[in-house]
Amino acid sequence: MLDKLFNKLSSKKDSKYIEINNTPNNYVIIGASAAGINAAKVLRKLNPKFSITVISKDDRIYSRCMLHHVISDHRSVESINFVDSDFMEKNNILWIKNKTVKSIDTDNKVVKLDKEDIVYDKLLIATGAKSFVPPIKNIKEGNNIYSLRDIEDVYNIKEKIKNSKKVAIIGAGLIGIDALTSLLDMGTLEVSLIYPNDYILDLQLDEYSAKVYESKFIENGAKLYPSLPVNQIVLDDNKNVKGVELGDNSIVECDLLIVATGVRPNTEIVANTNIEDNRGIVINEKCETTVEDVYAAGDVVGKNAIWPLAVKQGIVAAYNMAGFERILDDEFTFKNSMNFVGIPTVSLGIAIPPDGTYDVITRCDKDGYKKFVIKDNVITGFIAQGDISYTGPITYLIKHKVVIPNLKERVFDIGYADFFSMKENGEFEYNIN
Ligand SMILES: Cc1cc2nc3c(=O)[nH]c(=O)nc-3n(C[C@H](O)[C@H](O)[C@H](O)COP(=O)(O)OP(=O)(O)OC[C@H]3O[C@@H](n4cnc5c(N)ncnc54)[C@H](O)[C@@H]3O)c2cc1C
Repeated sequence: MLDKLFNKLSSKKDSKYIEINNTPNNYVIIGASAAGINAAKVLRKLNPKFSITVISKDDRIYSRCMLHHVISDHRSVESINFVDSDFMEKNNILWIKNKTVKSIDTDNKVVKLDKEDIVYDKLLIATGAKSFVPPIKNIKEGNNIYSLRDIEDVYNIKEKIKNSKKVAIIGAGLIGIDALTSLLDMGTLEVSLIYPNDYILDLQLDEYSAKVYESKFIENGAKLYPSLPVNQIVLDDNKNVKGVELGDNSIVECDLLIVATGVRPNTEIVANTNIEDNRGIVINEKCETTVEDVYAAGDVVGKNAIWPLAVKQGIVAAYNMAGFERILDDEFTFKNSMNFVGIPTVSLGIAIPPDGTYDVITRCDKDGYKKFVIKDNVITGFIAQGDISYTGPITYLIKHKVVIPNLKERVFDIGYADFFSMKENGEFEYNIN
């Protein structure tokens, strides 16, 4: 069955194109995750007759954001599938799973797998990213050292954890903290978090809001090692990890190490093409790459590696592939939300002022913490921790750079009336579109 479909798709002259808006309709998507699946959904919605093929190295569809919950058994592998189990069949999509694309021939519009070639009219590259492993002595050679990116990482960690007592994590970004919370939840492990920065999540949070989480993690048993680089990974005679040597020569003992030090886009498949790769596939606001009929979306473009942006780019790419113009109008560059140890936090815009020209107004009460960063009567950044109910309107004000007179004095009291002004003819106008 698959062979027949391969043959049909592989022979360009045999392909039956149905012209829709003069657009050839053989769509191929590499990647079956946030960007790829949402693109496929949109293409199918736009036309039931499009030929849609999704190729993925993964043999299942799952939310990477939920992987840590599988480690702690709070979720099963099946329950982190973010589409119905019959999504591909129901939508008449050919899914070539468990297959790796090796290269792309953009002159002949062919995607090359190990043995098969798949032709396309329009191609979406949604290959995501891989974990970045820093060049630390013994990190590549050692056993029981894992990243957290794919379901295979979870299987490996779960297997090893059965006999583990001490786990160390290097990196205190979102993935490192996800790993920390799930390992603490298990209640049976000594968990150490090692990071070179002065506080955790320093790309998303300010010191105050980060320290709120840090003290909760310590309460829950975590050992935190901030502000120190890693000298090397210490291995035993069998090359099993036994510790992490820090910059002050102290050693944090562990029998399992998780490395959560960032990601790099999966761009290898465009190496010999004219598709520009500059720490990620370069795209324009329509998600077009530098080669005609090739689009890219998600972590592979090397922007903000977060789920909502991958989804949005996948959707925008799909519309444009099908001939309906859509523009990416929000890159979610400065929008983060998280919920650790039952404390939700949202940070928006420039929440850490880069210099002294900004005003910072904070309030901390029984509902939690709020911080406004203001410049020239415009809110440029905001953090809310605990009560995050005010976030929607603030997002709007930041995004649209809305000027509110005397903002500094009354930022906690702004309301509906602040957005009305009187025109010269005495008529009231609403200043927000
Ligand atoms: C542990 C963890 C926690 C996270 N938490 C959050 C969070 O709380 N909030 C948030 O917004 N984001 C979070 N993220 C990030 C989020 O998961 C990613 O931004 C998102 O998965 C990106 O989706 P994507 O479609 O671009 O690529 P990916 O999800 O990386 O998927 C890539 C797809 O491409 C396929 N593929 C790759 N190379 C090839 C090839 N050569 N041939 C064929 N197929 C290939 C893969 O099999 C896969 O199907 C988290 C990530 C991790 C790992």
